[in-house]
Amino acid sequence: MIIIAIDGPAATGKSTTAKIVAEKLGFTYLDTGAMYRCVTLAVINAEINISDTDQINNLLNDLNIDLVDYEGNLQIMMNGIDVSDDIRSVDVTDNVSAVSALKNIRVAMVKIQRKFAYKTNCVMEGRDIGTVVFPDAKFKFYLFANTQVRAQRRQRDLLALGEKKPIHELVEDIQRRDAYDSSRELSPLTKAEDAIEIDTTDLTIDEQVSKIIEIVNKK
Ligand code: C5P
Repeated sequence: MIIIAIDGPAATGKSTTAKIVAEKLGFTYLDTGAMYRCVTLAVINAEINISDTDQINNLLNDLNIDLVDYEGNLQIMMNGIDVSDDIRSVDVTDNVSAVSALKNIRVAMVKIQRKFAYKTNCVMEGRDIGTVVFPDAKFKFYLFANTQVRAQRRQRDLLALGEKKPIHELVEDIQRRDAYDSSRELSPLTKAEDAIEIDTTDLTIDEQVSKIIEIVNKK
């Protein structure tokens, strides 16, 4: 199966780009950040202390995450309930980096991600797809962008969910999450040596998509 890995920090346009690239190529799209957000929501709902490994393992055993295509949008189902909006909340965003740094959680998510790619050609987007999940992926891209521009994008996404946050706070959030994701011991956010870098600061989504499709079609 063909895997297109798209990694990079928050708010670089990975999700939207990956989704459209998948549509255009007839591949399946997998947003791995949504999976880590889903676990984080479950941890928050269950009021679990993340240093309690047994409780986290129990939670993982009872947790069923499904990403389903619903009228062209990816719907995130947690134990049968649609949590697509809930996983984008400020509370989940504030806690997701700490939760996704845990070994048992990463092992469980990577297992699902690898299984997913057995069945279908896919565009998989996240932080460690080209480095850890699929180091042999046929195509690897690493998206990045200026922090101010990323904060503006995040602000627009939050507004669409009815949440308001000033730009300076979003800049701080993004910097904090980047630092956490890049410095963690397991699967830190880093560019795979053989990934193609794309600076999305001044690019529209259409331009990002075209760049990737062009490279894929050339091979
Ligand atoms: O992509 P998104 O911003 O939704 O990802 C949320 C968080 O999930 C990231 O900040 C990171 O902590 C975690 N994540 C991860 N590995 C991935 C994808 C996301 O650790 N493959």
